[in-house]
Amino acid sequence: MNKVHLKKKIALRIANGHPWIFVNEVEKVIGNPAPAEIVEVYYYDGKYAGTGYFNDQSQIIVRLLTREKNIEINKAFFVQKIKECWAYRQKLGYIENCRLVYGEADGLPQLIIDKFSDYFVIQTLAMGIDKWKPDIVTALQTIFSPKGIYERNDVPVRELEGLTQQKGFLTELFDTKIIINENGLRFLVDIENGQKTGYFLDQQDNRRAIKNIVKGADVLGAFTYTGTFEIHAAHYGARSVLGLDISQSAVDQANKNASLNGLENIVKFETANAFDILKKWSKDETLSYDVVMLDPPAFTKSRATIEKAITGYKEINLRGMKLLRKGGFLVTSSCTNLVKPEMFLQIIESAAKDARKKLRQVVFQPQSPDHPIIRGMENTHYLKFLIVEVS
Ligand code: SAH
Repeated sequence: MNKVHLKKKIALRIANGHPWIFVNEVEKVIGNPAPAEIVEVYYYDGKYAGTGYFNDQSQIIVRLLTREKNIEINKAFFVQKIKECWAYRQKLGYIENCRLVYGEADGLPQLIIDKFSDYFVIQTLAMGIDKWKPDIVTALQTIFSPKGIYERNDVPVRELEGLTQQKGFLTELFDTKIIINENGLRFLVDIENGQKTGYFLDQQDNRRAIKNIVKGADVLGAFTYTGTFEIHAAHYGARSVLGLDISQSAVDQANKNASLNGLENIVKFETANAFDILKKWSKDETLSYDVVMLDPPAFTKSRATIEKAITGYKEINLRGMKLLRKGGFLVTSSCTNLVKPEMFLQIIESAAKDARKKLRQVVFQPQSPDHPIIRGMENTHYLKFLIVEVS
């Protein structure tokens, strides 16, 4: 087996359980591992550190899959790991839909698997995990007997690993427009053409958090995608709900979802640039809402443009606050990984100051626990979900 020896002064990170080994932490590579090959990793004193997959084309030269020397990486390994992932989700109460595998947080670096009832969507985002795709598919078939498995590897990050972007069936063809149940509601999921894996499971628990505040309310939602939050609002007793998204296909799908739940008289979706509309409407004194909900896409993936992201969050939240009636609620999310929870709160506070509003915090929580946060692995906590009362 090829071996990688670490420098004496490596970050404690690795010993503490973080699975990434950066190029500059390696003293020497013994053998000549090809990209994606399995290697054993040793500390400078010869002690075993773990086994993982190698790629010297990447800044992260090894991603560890196990810390146990006697464990072989093979089909049985993936069956066992995925079984453990499923057992954990079941323990937390997920029955039907969940993120079954959340990459590094589940000890399977760069592997994402979303379970939508009997259908599975997978992403293999590094060469070293992509290689195991056939075994991962077999593992899913062994454990779940699924109706279909689909690959959504149309993700730019794969190119950094020397992989192509691609999507398609990993089992026999099936109708990729499926319907899932969430919190007693039904949603159409477009596995083939929807955003990311087709549906944002990470907000599934947060959607329930609006239950009490939307009763009898006039609600405005922006960045609505399939309309999940807005349809929940209507279901929980809102008087009227208007949702805005820039994508025509998202709006069409959201309106279909409203009808699917018999709520089309209460909730409507329209195509619009939310930045423009929020700016315009916040200056119109005849317009106001009891609840404003914002769930924009990530504003940046790079530190170089973090300021732009901060400005973006401040802008939409400030406008959102101005559109609220006194004592109304702002429901606001951020999925930008580089905007840490404290920073997000500071942005919201600064928006409130400029809007001359007072905030009372109702809820502040991360993504749902089927996307586990690993302490010490900062970027596993990416979603910030905040509800504040605004007066
Ligand atoms: N709330 C949704 C997820 C929203 S994803 C859910 O729970 O499933 C973010 C959405 O913002 C995408 O649908 C995207 O089309 C939309 N979007 C991006 N830029 C926008 C803009 N400037 N105005 C309105 N919508 C925008």
